[in-house]
Amino acid sequence: MFPVPLHLVDHPLVHDALVALRDKHTPPEHFRRAATRISVMLAAEALRDLPTRDMTVETPLGPASGRRIQGDVVVVPVLRAGLGMLDAVLELVPDARVGHIGLQRDEMTAVASQYYSKLPSRLDSSVVLMIDPMLATGGSAVAALDLLAQAGAPTIRMICIVAAPEGVALVEQHHPHVVIYTPVVDRFLNEHKYIVPGLGDFGDRLYGTV
Ligand code: URA
Repeated sequence: MFPVPLHLVDHPLVHDALVALRDKHTPPEHFRRAATRISVMLAAEALRDLPTRDMTVETPLGPASGRRIQGDVVVVPVLRAGLGMLDAVLELVPDARVGHIGLQRDEMTAVASQYYSKLPSRLDSSVVLMIDPMLATGGSAVAALDLLAQAGAPTIRMICIVAAPEGVALVEQHHPHVVIYTPVVDRFLNEHKYIVPGLGDFGDRLYGTV
């Protein structure tokens, strides 16, 4: 159905957190915690194939073999809603480098325009994880992916919390090699380009600006 590499993350804890996020009665404090919970699991899935190197560590009882992450991870939240997923990724990969892309959606046209961009160097040799919770029209995702591709990121993975078929299709059209990790693809976009049923405006619910 979706030719873009779309990875549907199916885990009871992901679905449990998603219901808390969707519930219109969830206050910002609980919304933030559910956003972190679900993002940890989505990021873990998106980074499942990170390269590792074998090593040995000394436990109090002797040597134990193990594996450590090898290489550089760059996480890029799309402002402002993506910030609600950042702590979760940094909890998993504390030494990840962080880029920021600021995109503003025109309320009338839903067209995204860039107002800020600050990306780490050497993206060409990094695993790049873009975080943007709502893949709606795909306009801002494609704009952010364009910037990352121009900055040299060879392969980009993206995590979102709710996707719409329109957004998945647009990313597929412009960036066919990007892998999207999401728990769900919802039904459609309404006339204001909000995902239905979705969860409302993620940034407003995260920051209590409704
Ligand atoms: N952005 C949101 O926060 N929610 C939507 O439904 C669509 C875009």
